[in-house]
Amino acid sequence: MRRKGKKELTWKRVYKANQRAIKLIYTHYPKMVLSRLIYTVWTALTPYVGIYCSALIIGELAGGKDAGKLAELVLFTLIIEAAIAFVSALLLKWQNSEGGGMYQYFQIQQIFTKKLLDMDFVKIDEEKTHEMLSSIEQYQNGGGWGLISLIRCYEVVLSSVFTFLGGITLTVSLFTSTVPESAGAYQMLNHPLFIALIIFVMLAVTWLSPVLATKAGEYWAKNADKHNQENRIFRFYSFFGHRPEIAADVRIYRQDLIGAKNMVLKTGVFESKGLFAGYARGPMGFYNAASAAVSVLFTGVIYLFVCLKAWAGAFGIGSVTQYAASVTKAASGLSSLIEIAGTMRNNTFFLEKTFEFLDIPNPMYQGSLTVEKRRDRDYEVEFRSVSFQYPGSTSYALKNVSMKFRIGERLAVVGRNGSGKTTFIKLLCRLYDPTEGEILLNGINIRKYNYLDYLSIFSVVFQDFKLFSFPLGQNVAASCSYDKEQVISSLQKAGFGERLSELPDGTETYLYKDFSENGVDISGGEAQKIALARSLYKDSPFIILDEPTAALDPVAEADIYTRFNEVVGDKTAIYISHRLSSCQFCDEIAVFDNGEIVQQGSHEKLVEDEEGKYYELWRAQAQYYTE
Ligand code: ADP
Repeated sequence: MRRKGKKELTWKRVYKANQRAIKLIYTHYPKMVLSRLIYTVWTALTPYVGIYCSALIIGELAGGKDAGKLAELVLFTLIIEAAIAFVSALLLKWQNSEGGGMYQYFQIQQIFTKKLLDMDFVKIDEEKTHEMLSSIEQYQNGGGWGLISLIRCYEVVLSSVFTFLGGITLTVSLFTSTVPESAGAYQMLNHPLFIALIIFVMLAVTWLSPVLATKAGEYWAKNADKHNQENRIFRFYSFFGHRPEIAADVRIYRQDLIGAKNMVLKTGVFESKGLFAGYARGPMGFYNAASAAVSVLFTGVIYLFVCLKAWAGAFGIGSVTQYAASVTKAASGLSSLIEIAGTMRNNTFFLEKTFEFLDIPNPMYQGSLTVEKRRDRDYEVEFRSVSFQYPGSTSYALKNVSMKFRIGERLAVVGRNGSGKTTFIKLLCRLYDPTEGEILLNGINIRKYNYLDYLSIFSVVFQDFKLFSFPLGQNVAASCSYDKEQVISSLQKAGFGERLSELPDGTETYLYKDFSENGVDISGGEAQKIALARSLYKDSPFIILDEPTAALDPVAEADIYTRFNEVVGDKTAIYISHRLSSCQFCDEIAVFDNGEIVQQGSHEKLVEDEEGKYYELWRAQAQYYTE
């Protein structure tokens, strides 16, 4: 991926990106943001209480030496420090419970997950969407850039500002207290020009250190694109070992060897002779070292100035500790403010990439009509001259398809692989909108219905359905809470009853072993039955089976389809298959060829037409069902 244009990175742009990002996170997790920021301000300010109290105690020790007053001061310090520690612990607890540390990764990930779920299906399908997401993940996991670093940045901004302000408050008198006349030449320390010079040196050094550190950090941001590919290979290769779906192949073909070779052979950005190692030895290392050296210099200047003034009699010994500590703190606040500004500047590029993804528009029209919940389930769907091209494709996957189906009918959609059957279902479920023509539900274009409401009338079992490694009941109900009786009845209707009675924890049995040792491994055929049960449990008026049985032999498929047909009741069922025998029982069979409906009618009628596509396919497949 390339950097966005040559547009200059202005501070206004940096501010806009960071503000938008914090608002975004705040909208999703207000308590998490508040708990973290409040804790930050608290921990930035409270150390000054200690500094101030110690100064009072040391002052008394060095000056008045009044035992009673000392005892009072010490007691006061202890009580106030205990109170601070108590509140700190409470705030920390609150922060942890709202989401600190690793939990934040999960929260940020949720923002992306939500976007993906809200996205039009057509956008999910696009390669560009996946590319963007993968880049974001890499920036995030590789360098901690993007949204993930945002709260941390704002924490540093706040703690820097408050540390600086607290430090300055306790420091003002360092500059205003004057050296007495008796100090002779030391009186020069009172001269405004000298004070201005000291402040200037302090500011210059305070500024220089973080600027140098940011310069070092820029090498990561500037070269982010260069480690993208390595990161991808790294992620792929590091998890080679425990991905069950490839573990067997990896062993048999020793694919670990090409994995390892590819890791090393590429540009080697992470190798000891690679790009980043080079930077670390060269400019990046130099800037980091210079930054550290400069900050030590600063401490030297402070101590010199404070000690000279104390020596000359401007203030007592107690104040030396206070000033040395508070000036150092004020300076570290300012310094980290400058450094974090640099980091936020560097992060702007990554935030903008993130927004580019989050701003992917949903071009599909969203209607507001609700689908009438009819007791009689009397719905009618009509395809009216529908044609469709997949985005970016020049050929038609569907051509001029017209068809009507009424409630209660059994419809079969048959045809060779690639003839447009699945596309037909995807349009019916409005995963895509037709390129031409329209689809109507009870006479109204389906675009005018609220999408989720419209989807509620369909149950589809796709060819590549997915079950999760959660309890069986949750899989069937697609919900954490479920009606046990109904789950059992759906499973029985789908032919899973016998196996269910053998399961150790009944409907609470986990599928697969990912999340439970007692989980059961199920065969492909059993998985299909569970997927069928899920479609029955949803109890929607339309039920569609898109070759979920493709892994079975034709006879077994026909058997499942016929049995399923007996349990769907008054629902409208649509069966899809490239095997004609499976759909023989349907009232109406639509034959797809090259995206068009070339024939339609009952099996008996279609098979009579010896010139027709149906007859041709029937003949070709006859070997499977001579029984
Ligand atoms: P069937 O379900 O009958 O096997 P499909 O509906 O899956 O057929 O495919 C119809 C045509 O559309 C095929 O030529 C296929 O290559 C093409 N096609 C399917 N999915 C996509 C897609 N996501 N992008 C581009 N073309 C696709």
